[in-house]
Amino acid sequence: MIGIAVLGSTGSIGASTLDVVARHGDRFRVHTLAAHSDHRRLLAQCLVHRPQRAILEDAQAAQELGAALRSCALPTRVECGPAALSDAVRDPGVAVVMAAIVGAAGLPSTIAAASAGKRVLLANKESLVVGGALLVAAARRGGATLIPIDSEHNAIFQCLPAGVSTGVPASGVRRILLTASGGPFLRKSRAEMTRATPDEACAHPRWRMGRKISVDSATLMNKGLELIEACVLFGMEPRQVEVVVHPQSIVHSMVEYVDGSVLAQLGNPDMRTPIAHALGWPERIASGVESLDLVAAARLDFEAPDIGRFPALRLARAAAESGGTSPAVLNAANEVAVAAFLAGRLGFPGVPAIIEAVLERHDCRPVTDLEDVLAVDRWARSEAESMLTRAAVAGT
Ligand code: NAD
Ligand code: MG
Repeated sequence: MIGIAVLGSTGSIGASTLDVVARHGDRFRVHTLAAHSDHRRLLAQCLVHRPQRAILEDAQAAQELGAALRSCALPTRVECGPAALSDAVRDPGVAVVMAAIVGAAGLPSTIAAASAGKRVLLANKESLVVGGALLVAAARRGGATLIPIDSEHNAIFQCLPAGVSTGVPASGVRRILLTASGGPFLRKSRAEMTRATPDEACAHPRWRMGRKISVDSATLMNKGLELIEACVLFGMEPRQVEVVVHPQSIVHSMVEYVDGSVLAQLGNPDMRTPIAHALGWPERIASGVESLDLVAAARLDFEAPDIGRFPALRLARAAAESGGTSPAVLNAANEVAVAAFLAGRLGFPGVPAIIEAVLERHDCRPVTDLEDVLAVDRWARSEAESMLTRAAVAGT
């Protein structure tokens, strides 16, 4: 039995992971479940999956969970805080770690899992953007296998030759074609985007996801983060990664080789496909995803992204080209701006505006270690927060 820790179990990726795992009860055993504060959802998951450990970031929520589990006579140990996460992923009973926490908060536990030589199923793209070089180095030192869960990167991984190492360009690859659905505002005017509400931004036409990544998909920052993610994972230069809008979300990305061959991975837009691929790899296991009906889909369209309406993509490409600390600053400013937009404190165009302003105040330099990058992350968050405060004061 393969022990698995699902970090971010109460989220969208966490739920899809548990769905796939439950289809293979003879193969996987849920060892650890971890989330931020939703103790009710975590309790329901504990009752079904009976893990050894359950971890909540929030201490009060952890107490509630502990009391509820005791009353159900479940022996699951309840812990709280980030140190418990990093400890849990090192547990010898855990072979596979699903890193599905949202945001840079997932970086320390993902690095801990990589350092401990686990198979790391990497959904938490922000950790690759913030500390990509550190994470790849930790995996190399620890002997870990990193398998991307992001549908595009999982598709690229499937289209690359077997045996490529993380962060090392595969021989014969000319470039990567990273597909983007275009998000909910693909056909909206600038005026409509200026008035966009959080619910409109989260109404993704193809994917059901958490609210932060849904807003990232609306600004196209999601594709920008994914461009950086692709450079880190596959050892590509930013100019080798082209973003192509593909509204049907059936082709999940493509790899072009020097001989002109282009390999693509296709499938219904359902995250259980990349999750099952990564859980079973190198074998194939069932995911519960329906067969792709290409005749019903009928068309596959491709177009160039509109950088004018989606400046986040330009900012992310520039950060990828600068390298060093710039992607961490881009990510932190984005996390703060997206949270402010979701809370009704900032308009939709304010999201890229805040990110651009924070990047302008940053002096890019190489990343040294985890502490260093976490300090950069804190700096960028406080800059973004003070810009938000100044904007609010100016607006009153
Ligand atoms: P979500 O908001 O639905 O879930 C996030 C999970 O992280 C929740 O379980 C939450 O409790 C947990 N969490 C948040 N902060 C935490 C903290 N400090 N400590 C512990 N747990 C914490 O998000 P999601 O859509 O499942 O996305 C998760 C990650 O996967 C993100 O990085 C996202 O970019 C990536 N991703 C998601 C999808 C998708 O289809 N949802 C696709 C590709 C990549
Ligand atoms: Mg993606």
